[in-house]
Amino acid sequence: MALTGLEIFKLLPKTNCKKCGMPTCLAFAMSLAQKRAKLEDCPHVSEEAKQKLAAAAAPPMRKIVFGRKDLQLTVGQETVMFRHEEKFYNPTVLAVTISDKLSGNDLSSRIKAINSLQFERVGTKIGVRAIAVTNDSGSPDVFAQVCAQAAKQACPEPGRGGWSRERRANNSPADSSTSLGTSLALILVTESPQAASAALKQIKDAAGTPLLAGATAKNVEEMAKIAKENGCPLVAKAESIEALADLSEKIKAAGVDDIVLCLETASLREKLYNMTRMRVLSLKKAFRPLGYPTVSFVLGGSPEQQTAEACSLICKYSSIVVVGTIEPYAILPMLTCVMNIFTDPQKPVQVEPKVYAIGEPGENSPLMFTTNFSLTYYTVVSDVEASRVPSYILVVDTEGTSVLTAYSGDKLNEKTVADAMAKDNVASLVKHRKLIIPGYVAVMSGKLEEATSWEVMVGPRESAMLPKYLKEVWK
Ligand code: SF4
Repeated sequence: MALTGLEIFKLLPKTNCKKCGMPTCLAFAMSLAQKRAKLEDCPHVSEEAKQKLAAAAAPPMRKIVFGRKDLQLTVGQETVMFRHEEKFYNPTVLAVTISDKLSGNDLSSRIKAINSLQFERVGTKIGVRAIAVTNDSGSPDVFAQVCAQAAKQACPEPGRGGWSRERRANNSPADSSTSLGTSLALILVTESPQAASAALKQIKDAAGTPLLAGATAKNVEEMAKIAKENGCPLVAKAESIEALADLSEKIKAAGVDDIVLCLETASLREKLYNMTRMRVLSLKKAFRPLGYPTVSFVLGGSPEQQTAEACSLICKYSSIVVVGTIEPYAILPMLTCVMNIFTDPQKPVQVEPKVYAIGEPGENSPLMFTTNFSLTYYTVVSDVEASRVPSYILVVDTEGTSVLTAYSGDKLNEKTVADAMAKDNVASLVKHRKLIIPGYVAVMSGKLEEATSWEVMVGPRESAMLPKYLKEVWK
């Protein structure tokens, strides 16, 4: 279990020598607890303290990696109950099912539909990352064949949602996400050891490291043997926390270290309650039999119901969520939920502060500014595009905060805007020397005019009104 700053402080030399770059040992301990400093930075820490701190730093939840060579998926290794305590590390993997009862065109169409579930949101690519083949036919051979076809054809296509390629090329900030063209991971959903063996034999090499789902109290010895022989992580399935803990211990005793837990309870309410208990037991009580990532299956109900259930399970605390729907309108909210939950709360998602050209603006086009908070920027861009008025948007560096937050924190003022205008030499882009500012910061217009000698035009408070403003007020 992670140590608190004070517990770490007790293990430090307490000389306040400052060699770690901190003014005191206590400050260093606090930074270490928040993972903002490294133990090696203190040259005087004793071997005994090093060992104690290393043991305490061992993750309470194991990291599991599966998937293909070109798209390795990492789940687990979480350290906190709530993201504001630190952050959540490894985003929930969203997977979609394929039944092995499908064949021919139906099977190809389903794989193609899953491949297309890729989107772009606030400059980041998001999408389904795995296909879960379910052994509904009961036949090992059929299961193996469908797994082989999924392994061969599962490759994401450029997204349906978000921006056009041209727009991305012109305006998108650096893309930090997985690139398109990588392959989806496979999850083999069967409780039949024969089917698992047949599928793994068939997809050997082609599917990298699939996730095998899974082991139950009835098949645990055989499934653990297959997982060990093939180097696959194994899902343990049980209906209660106690049974799950027993099962994971048996799997571990059989030589499989990479385990994913699946709690099979009937109601969502009970599941959320028990998933929270499992998280507490693994993180707060360091209960090792439950110190693994989790997978949840959301296969029934309408696409809308699956969205609601999947989002609840993403929040509490599924590392992998497998859904049955392939409706883009149902998948996108799930991916958005993952993106939001796994964003570092201490690091707002930002775009590069610079001038962005929307369309093909010229020297008479409007120039406006906004902040480098991604959500704000992309909202403004979307509304300017909707206006069809080619424009320049000057993005001011406000450390990723929105307009009002930046203004109230004094990160957005006449000086920061004037500096940004000078840095990006906006005077060379337009000849009118007029700057449109967000309506929410109309109060800074006078000082901004003094600081820049430009005419300041107060724009609308909400960017949704920009199309009207650009057509009627700017002209
Ligand atoms: Fe304390 Fe070590 Fe930092 Fe010196 S280097 S102030 S002993 S933590």
